[in-house]
Amino acid sequence: MNIILLGPPGAGKGTQARRLVQELGMKQLSTGDMLREARTSNTDMGKRVAAVMDAGNLVTDDIVIGLIEEQLSITNSTGFIFDGFPRTLAQADALGSLLAKIDKELNFVVEMKVDDEALVSRIVGRSTCVGCGDVYHDVTRPQPPTCTNCGSESFVRRADDNEISLKTRLLAYYRDTSPLIGYYHAKGKLNSIDGLKDINVVAEEIRLILNSRNSL
Ligand code: ADP
Ligand code: AMP
Repeated sequence: MNIILLGPPGAGKGTQARRLVQELGMKQLSTGDMLREARTSNTDMGKRVAAVMDAGNLVTDDIVIGLIEEQLSITNSTGFIFDGFPRTLAQADALGSLLAKIDKELNFVVEMKVDDEALVSRIVGRSTCVGCGDVYHDVTRPQPPTCTNCGSESFVRRADDNEISLKTRLLAYYRDTSPLIGYYHAKGKLNSIDGLKDINVVAEEIRLILNSRNSL
């Protein structure tokens, strides 16, 4: 089963993707994580995208489509979770073609709805474990001295998790990504949920969607 988690920055896509990986053994493909990894390893591409990411703008379609194409060609999984991809109509078309090429299809798109006010507090309170990528929040999931998942003592706050970048990221979401809601609705793939609910409740709602036969 292959799914897209669709929603603005801070909607909870990464949090839920990690749960699906742990609980169902699915494979998370996060273009944001791939781009941050490219920056950390100082690749040419990583250097090129750094300023764009920090400002909160979208990286070019060619780059992210290339990253997904590469992952789909080297990873064998019965279930991919696309997290933060696609973000434009061109990326959505490309994903359809890439999946068709390897005889796979997209089963569900889960749109996670969260209002802007909540997104701001989620983004400014977010920290991430350096060891395993587990995501914490100052209020809703306070960071313990050591990561509950891997025991690491190091946590980071993302350079783009500030109110100025977030404004640009939200604008990019509403301008370039939100048209995907209509695109996937027309394809009969869209399921929308309230991402403001508790993390466990959101996880349960995603499970219900994945178990629903009607959407298949
Ligand atoms: P995204 O991947 O969509 O940008 P994250 O999964 O990183 O979002 O979540 C953003 C922040 O919000 C994190 O600090 C996370 O702990 C917190 N968070 C995620 N889901 C919820 C939720 N349902 N309720 C409250 N806080 C949440
Ligand atoms: P994320 O981790 O999903 O919040 O993404 C962080 C940043 O990486 C975004 O603000 C963009 O600059 C870039 N990025 C991640 N995924 C994409 C994508 N699919 N298309 C364009 N830019 C992306």
